[in-house]
Amino acid sequence: MTKPRLQRVLVTGGLGFIGTNFVRMILAEDIECIGNIDKVTYASNLDAKAQFEGDRRYRFFEVDLADTQTTRKTVLDFEADVVVHFAAETHVDRSIASSSAFIQTNIVGTFNLLEAFREYSDGKHANQFNNPRFIHVSTDEVYGSLGASGLFSETSRYQPNSPYSASKAASDHLARAWHHTYGLPVIVTNCSNNFGPYQNAEKLIPTVISCCLENKLIPIYGTGENVRDWIYVDDHNRAIFAAIAHGVPGESYNIGGNNEIKNIDLVNSICLLMDEMRPKKSGSYLDLITFVEDRKGHDYRYAIDSSKAKQALHWECEVPFQAGLRNTLRWYIARSRDGMNG
Ligand code: NAD
Repeated sequence: MTKPRLQRVLVTGGLGFIGTNFVRMILAEDIECIGNIDKVTYASNLDAKAQFEGDRRYRFFEVDLADTQTTRKTVLDFEADVVVHFAAETHVDRSIASSSAFIQTNIVGTFNLLEAFREYSDGKHANQFNNPRFIHVSTDEVYGSLGASGLFSETSRYQPNSPYSASKAASDHLARAWHHTYGLPVIVTNCSNNFGPYQNAEKLIPTVISCCLENKLIPIYGTGENVRDWIYVDDHNRAIFAAIAHGVPGESYNIGGNNEIKNIDLVNSICLLMDEMRPKKSGSYLDLITFVEDRKGHDYRYAIDSSKAKQALHWECEVPFQAGLRNTLRWYIARSRDGMNG
């Protein structure tokens, strides 16, 4: 995959899990300037914030996308060629406990960003723009849940089941409509479960690792039979680069790891790797596994058909699952030695 030469890129949520990895990747490129709009919520990586600020091409804007005027002014002033919209409230359990922030950030925030980029684009001549794109980063959870067989494709029906996925589905529809109605060069990507460094401690893989590190019980919802399709975060971010370079405005692309795993099998793999990489004083980390009451409305299975993205974006996954998992564990283990929170 050839990466596009990027001029001025504005990311949102660039202190979150996927955004942090994206900013690190983009700073390794020949880029003129990258701006990062982030509200700095509990999900932000503050050590990454400090690292990025040493690069003269990086500019940070502490902005809440739900704030219409500040979002508008930031977008108009920055003058981006490409916007990559990661910012969102993302934790399903939090959305079940209290959904208001999900509506504000994921729906109102996306609306404000689309409107601001539309106003900025309307004021530009086409020849002043360098391949303008608005990449709306979304999830496979908008399609609901699969049974034992089948895959989500770009034509699967939207059937979101949680407040999180419903808010992301709403934002996908706004993004699509802003292309159809106003001609904004919007591309939507719907990706499966990511894993890798910098993920917030409350998500499944970091939770399992931190339970191992702290010798605490590892909670698994229900019977652990739920299936997710895992992708290493750098492979997702390479797909976003590919969407900027080769994606067609108005289209959506499903991105997946072709790597379905039952939650219980994933947790077993992590425990066994931890046994090898950071052995317990006695016994195995498998002994810490405990089953807890299932999540309300827990989707059974997600699995992605990425053939459109592979063909149209000239992209495919590069990181084998076990290698990605080892990298991830190594990163969390090193971080715990440095005394930082996951
Ligand atoms: P995250 O929760 O780790 O980070 C989100 C970031 O957005 C945080 O830094 C947060 O401060 C920022 N943010 C939240 N509300 C904001 C607001 N109102 N204004 C500005 N910034 C705000 O999220 P993530 O896991 O990195 O996910 C990034 C995107 O990718 C999301 O849109 C998510 O739906 C999508 N996605 C994630 C996964 C996954 O497995 N993590 C899979 C598919 C798609």
